[in-house]
Amino acid sequence: MKYFSTRNSSKKVSSIEAILKGLADDGGLYVPESIPEIDIDLLEGKNYKEIALEIFRLYLTDFTEVQLKNMIESAYSDQFDIENLVDVKKVDKQSILELFHGPTLAFKDMALSILPYFMVEAKKIKNVNEKTIILTATSGDTGKAALEGFKDVPGIEIIVFYPNEGVSDIQKLQMLTTEGVNTHVVAINGNFDDAQRSVKEAFSNLKLRELLKEDSFVFSSANSINIGRLIPQIVYYFYAYLEMIKQGSIYKGDSIKISVPTGNYGNILAAYYAKEMGLPVEKLICASNENNILTDFINTGQYDTNRDFVKTISPSMDILVSSNLERFIYQISNGNEQLIRDKMNDLKENKKFEIEKELVDTIKKIMIADYVTEEETLKTIKTCFEKTGYLLDPHTAVAYSVSENIGENILVVSTASPYKFGDSILKGLDINTDELDVEDINFEISQLCKESTPKSLVNISEKEIKHHRVCGINEIEKTIKEILKVGSKND
Ligand SMILES: *Cc1c(COP(=O)(O)O)cnc(C)c1O
Repeated sequence: MKYFSTRNSSKKVSSIEAILKGLADDGGLYVPESIPEIDIDLLEGKNYKEIALEIFRLYLTDFTEVQLKNMIESAYSDQFDIENLVDVKKVDKQSILELFHGPTLAFKDMALSILPYFMVEAKKIKNVNEKTIILTATSGDTGKAALEGFKDVPGIEIIVFYPNEGVSDIQKLQMLTTEGVNTHVVAINGNFDDAQRSVKEAFSNLKLRELLKEDSFVFSSANSINIGRLIPQIVYYFYAYLEMIKQGSIYKGDSIKISVPTGNYGNILAAYYAKEMGLPVEKLICASNENNILTDFINTGQYDTNRDFVKTISPSMDILVSSNLERFIYQISNGNEQLIRDKMNDLKENKKFEIEKELVDTIKKIMIADYVTEEETLKTIKTCFEKTGYLLDPHTAVAYSVSENIGENILVVSTASPYKFGDSILKGLDINTDELDVEDINFEISQLCKESTPKSLVNISEKEIKHHRVCGINEIEKTIKEILKVGSKND
């Protein structure tokens, strides 16, 4: 399987090159030259890791079967608190796919626990001796998951930029207490879009790249622009479908609707890939919070970032420029790279773009988009808990709420553990949190879900803060140079 940029299909690269580079040189995102099909019957009776192997071998053809198996085994074992990594639970009429049983309690672990293995193995195969600098912008969860995944991995240095005021207390503590000799966490005085844009700019900054090269450093990305993030996310959709059959929620062959709380469009794009590979999906439901730019886009064809950025209780979805939308438009336009170049240019120049009606109609055939307000999100957390005893985190609550009243056979994707956003959840349940510290809140949540606090969060507020750096949105390049100690000679 070869890969090329969404903006230029003539330059093909191997899967390991695509993973090592992260972003294509022309600023586009790598896509597979075709989406492979898979026979679901083949996957029946297999466990999570076996399904992962079947999917990976179709996309990551530069690794041998033994290499893939070893990487899966190393990445997907003790780090997860359940054998099959994910869980499917029937809650009221919906099935909930819990993707938060990994080391950092959010779905980002599904891909970020294996991406470091892909990279290290790829470097070995390609004889890359330079040090890889993983540049990552995070809306809260990618940061910690990437830090955990890449911590102390030889030959790799990881730098994470997060919006200073835009993440939950637990998310911040998780990141700032990260150990490891190769981890760097930087607060930026801006929002996620600022962080993501600056990181992308650093990537395409030739001068900076040259400078780093002199010191044997190369950039790569742990954001979902990296195709190595996307492929592992396809696996759980197949697993969940088979699990729904096992649990008697659907019959074999039934089509399902998948509701995904969406931010950077990576998770829902993986669901789209699963559908194209042959998973019976009737509709993908793109669920947003008050940053409802995707709702507008899917319903009207207009993508306009000239609007206020809202800080919500589902901060991992507080995004106005969803990178993976580029891949999606590429796929549904049958690989129209000229269209992608034009639209991405419009986005850069005018901060907006528009697609024509026919393409909107194509999207609408496979997708429903809607959003919920903050108030509705809190109400959903409350009513769901009162009715079923199940605690939804605010991101999951967004997807849950949007999926109500759209029929049967619904899979709601749960992207974070309630512990990550305990404060907001308690507010939703009308519990006053003014006097509560992080530990009290964790205790309250554990009482409500009748489970003990996850190990990684016990006494988290007492752990040593290891990272103190703060930078302005225009200081990312300078910060990178400082951290890597390059460029001081002639700058
Ligand atoms: C990252 C994240 C999302 C958004 O996922 P995308 O792939 O960026 O669309 C939703 N919920 C949580 C908890 C997340 O961490």
